[in-house]
Amino acid sequence: MRRLYIGIDVGGTKIAYGLFNENKELIGRHRTATDPQAYPDEFGHQLISDINALLVRNGFSLQDLKGVCIGMPSSVDFDNGIVLWTSNMTNIKQFHAREYFSNRLPGVEIIIDNDTNLAALAEHRRGAGRGYDHIIYTALSTGVGSGFIINNELFRGTYGGAGESGHMIITPDEGIECGCGNRGCIMSYSSGSMVSKHVVNAILNGRKTMMYDMVEGDLSKINGEILNAAFRRGDDLAIEMLDQIGKYIGIYVYNLFMAFNINCYVFGGGLLNFGQPLFDSIRSGLNKYYRDAEHEIIFKMAELGNDAGIIGAVELLD
Ligand SMILES: [Zn+2]
Repeated sequence: MRRLYIGIDVGGTKIAYGLFNENKELIGRHRTATDPQAYPDEFGHQLISDINALLVRNGFSLQDLKGVCIGMPSSVDFDNGIVLWTSNMTNIKQFHAREYFSNRLPGVEIIIDNDTNLAALAEHRRGAGRGYDHIIYTALSTGVGSGFIINNELFRGTYGGAGESGHMIITPDEGIECGCGNRGCIMSYSSGSMVSKHVVNAILNGRKTMMYDMVEGDLSKINGEILNAAFRRGDDLAIEMLDQIGKYIGIYVYNLFMAFNINCYVFGGGLLNFGQPLFDSIRSGLNKYYRDAEHEIIFKMAELGNDAGIIGAVELLD
């Protein structure tokens, strides 16, 4: 009888698999490295072979599998199950993923969604957003993106792109060019990869920082981890960068609150390694503009960590 579910979280560096029983309890895991150069066929082949391995290792077969949901770090046409484009895996584009996997896993329900949407759903059902009718989950990571839960359901918008709000423009035609081709997106001031570019530019302009020595002059190694380590050691530029992230994410929250009047913001992603100082910085960025003392805006740290993707995936399956 088909009664097992597999949730898959495709990340920039690794692919995480969770095997769940009929009560949606996690009973097995698998993890492989992401091949950033893979074409859809190689990528699909790897997933099928990993799905098989995960089942067999836990004493099951494909005949036991009821549903598979794949969270992609991509723009996804949810209704049609198509991966439109993927910034970390540039060859995975216009991939008719649902059709591909349905053909190779007959009888198994296949769902494809965006990874941030799945993390939002997971945090709402089983994590920091439990008990709220509406939440906005925001991943502060290499990029900045959100998943909206409205009336206890994921909101995807007309074309499925709701939550790409890191590309909302805040300084038109100014600042570093974003991956989307525009200048002035909120994420160009506040995402891990873009803040690293700000650090590199500052160094190239003669700014002194311990981050230069930490990467032994190899500026391509400046990343969120280096920034975090420098911050903890009191580096002025790192402190400025955290203030910058807080300023722009504070405005991001303010703008979303003005648009949706949703008061619960759950934050996840790698930049959360900054901990409380990041929250304090976002709060002060928000409070500069938000002056309504009667209506609280709640910040929460995501609770499910790296499992949010596989849990959200399985929550989407029937
Ligand atoms: Zn952008």
